[in-house]
Amino acid sequence: MIGGATRIAAVFGDPVAHSLSPAMHNAAYAALKLDRVYVACHVTPDRLPAALRAISALGFLGVNLTVPHKQKALKIVKRLSAEARMLGAANSIVNRNGVLYGHNTDARGLEFALRELDVSLRGKLAIVIGAGGAAGAAIVAAQRLRARRIVILNRTRARAASLARRFAHISNVSEIQTAGLDQLCDRELMGDAAIVMNATPMGLKTARFAPLDYRATPRDCLFYDLIYAPQATPFLKPAAAIGRPVADGAAMLLHQGALAFRLFNGRPAPVEVMRRALMNQLGRVARRR
Ligand code: NAP
Repeated sequence: MIGGATRIAAVFGDPVAHSLSPAMHNAAYAALKLDRVYVACHVTPDRLPAALRAISALGFLGVNLTVPHKQKALKIVKRLSAEARMLGAANSIVNRNGVLYGHNTDARGLEFALRELDVSLRGKLAIVIGAGGAAGAAIVAAQRLRARRIVILNRTRARAASLARRFAHISNVSEIQTAGLDQLCDRELMGDAAIVMNATPMGLKTARFAPLDYRATPRDCLFYDLIYAPQATPFLKPAAAIGRPVADGAAMLLHQGALAFRLFNGRPAPVEVMRRALMNQLGRVARRR
């Protein structure tokens, strides 16, 4: 029951009605019997400064930020974690006694999702498709899994080059290179890949994915789509059809949410409860992979 003492957490986005975060967080509050509620707020970019100010005015526990607010929030929230600074984006804003702190749980969320799949990239090649905020999280996750080489493939090569420069100094293990999307059909490059991660909206906002030589990849090459959807995405479908391991971004969403839950509530998240709620929303059976 929502009552006079109920505390509020939220997600701000534009659009936001599709967000699966309320289902995950509210399931966690119910399981832990916490008098807290998590809501979705439709916040347009021009209203972001006012909406962020309202967090402390209204005494919210904190908010998650989704498209298109993650980068813009950095200019508004002054106290930032090292991770948010490094990624150039904040996806979680925590209210500590009226003071806002910006964090980013996307890269750790993806790293945890990959570790759950027993992915080890030590000495191997990781291919990241895209050069936006999600690609940054994918690069950092690959660096933390100790990939030897990371190749960023992007439609706009200049953007890939600028992302490579941003993350080049983070790891002394991983070498970062960049190229255009045509390299998805380069047999030599694809033949060396241990993982291919899609960090673009291709397949979500478009019906098709870019041409990619799936057969050139090694049999155990993991195809990871940061997009999550009830059905296999256009990026994953051809990989699954020839027996390559595939996974979508549902587990990344789960783990970034679980990390945000901890930041908002000061206690560990009931991850399996959140996983069940998320999988239920996606029409899937919850299974720790
Ligand atoms: P973004 O900043 O808008 O970046 C989009 C990237 O995709 C850019 O590099 C862009 O290339 C490329 N792109 C967009 N449309 C394209 C097209 N039609 N053909 C080829 N390339 C295209 O987006 P983002 O925030 O990084 O997010 C990317 C995806 O990651 C989203 O779809 C989202 O679903 C997913 N995501 C998932 C999670 C999760 O928890 N699972 C978290 C964050 C994001 P240019 O540089 O050439 O424009």
